[in-house]
Amino acid sequence: MANQVIAHIGLGANLGDREASIRTALERLGDTPGVRIDAVSTLRETDPVGGPPQPKFLNGAARLETCLGPEALLEIMHVLEVEAGRDPEDPPNHPRMLDLDLLTYGDLRIEKKGLQLPHPRMWDRAFVLQPLAEIGCRLPDRVDSSQIEEISEPAQLVARTASWRSEGLKIGFVPTMGALHEGHASLMRLARRDCDRLVVSIFVNPLQFGSEKDLQTYPNSPEDDRAILRQEAVDLVFTPSVDALFPSGFASKISVGSEAEGMEAASRPGHFSGVATVVARLWLLVNPHCAYFGRKDAQQFAVLRRLHVDLALSGEILACPIIRDGDGLALSSRNQHLRGDDRQAATVLFKALNRCRELYLAGERRKTQLLTPALELLAAEPRCHLDYLELRAADSLDELGEVIEMPPQALLAAVIGESSASGTRLIDNMLLAAEAG
Ligand code: AMP
Repeated sequence: MANQVIAHIGLGANLGDREASIRTALERLGDTPGVRIDAVSTLRETDPVGGPPQPKFLNGAARLETCLGPEALLEIMHVLEVEAGRDPEDPPNHPRMLDLDLLTYGDLRIEKKGLQLPHPRMWDRAFVLQPLAEIGCRLPDRVDSSQIEEISEPAQLVARTASWRSEGLKIGFVPTMGALHEGHASLMRLARRDCDRLVVSIFVNPLQFGSEKDLQTYPNSPEDDRAILRQEAVDLVFTPSVDALFPSGFASKISVGSEAEGMEAASRPGHFSGVATVVARLWLLVNPHCAYFGRKDAQQFAVLRRLHVDLALSGEILACPIIRDGDGLALSSRNQHLRGDDRQAATVLFKALNRCRELYLAGERRKTQLLTPALELLAAEPRCHLDYLELRAADSLDELGEVIEMPPQALLAAVIGESSASGTRLIDNMLLAAEAG
């Protein structure tokens, strides 16, 4: 083959007939003009890394000789994944019928949206390294993903993101308050998928806290945060001080519309004004092409979507799926405060939302009948002190009549603990319509 390049690909599957999917894909790849399969490793069973609870994987690696370019090769690999039954819309780290990763392509080093070579996470994964070693792959030097740029001065951030923009790079932004977990990581992964550069901010925003105690006890775990930022190949972390973001004399506050009425706003006066003010401030500094927020904070998302339109903030605002623990509890930085029996008690929130959903899917459309069994479940858990459980129109969060005529979303907040004064306040929500995840 003329101009041939040696490439290595990772093979994986954890649904269906795993071995058959991998072997079929290899055959199809080998039949592709311009591709010759040179060596295939043993397929070995491995534990899943990240994502929801899921079956074990079968993993391996293959060496190819190819005269196709890396983009063309990757495109063919994506087609083979879809042919094997993988849904391209599935979030990262979800179970899949087939997973083909382009790990190396000659000596090429490239970092852009959808194509990073060598594959940035290959050095961390035994299920990649072992089969590569078996087929005699000499590992390329590690891409030093520990080099995350850290900026805490707003002016420096503006300069950096402006220079990226001028190079035509697409910037993704994930604002957080730190104490990062898999929910935050999922947002970063979606941003990484869409964008050339990924900015994460870590800022515990005093404007959105009602009580000084809540602010002071908000979890923080800087070292664990760094590990997640590295794992997700974040390019830049913005960690401003309160004074840097809100210097003395800063007096403007954004007042938000009807999206910020009821539910969270009723219990936390001024909360959404604080959220909107900090997000607008950060957004104008980063000037992203895409900013990612979790559906976990559904009312917050409704407020920010309004803000994005009203202030004509740059780019797109995207809502990302809620990431839950195996028992359904939505991941939250505040879950760290759940001690002993509280962790188990907190699962009642998911159970109650699920109960609403089951009844809705069974055809119930009367609001009271949808809510009552969930309220009973919540009331039966002595450690759960309910703040609200409401049914609203999905996404818009408009109020609904007694008979539900449009796809609804159930939203709740409760304090979990021995008493409502000493416990941990958690929120959660669920889309009730059939297609909701
Ligand atoms: P926070 O650090 O709590 O301000 O959250 C930062 C972003 O992460 C927000 O957009 C949240 O909605 C999102 N987020 C927090 N928890 C989850 C979760 N369990 N699933 C998905 N997104 C989440």
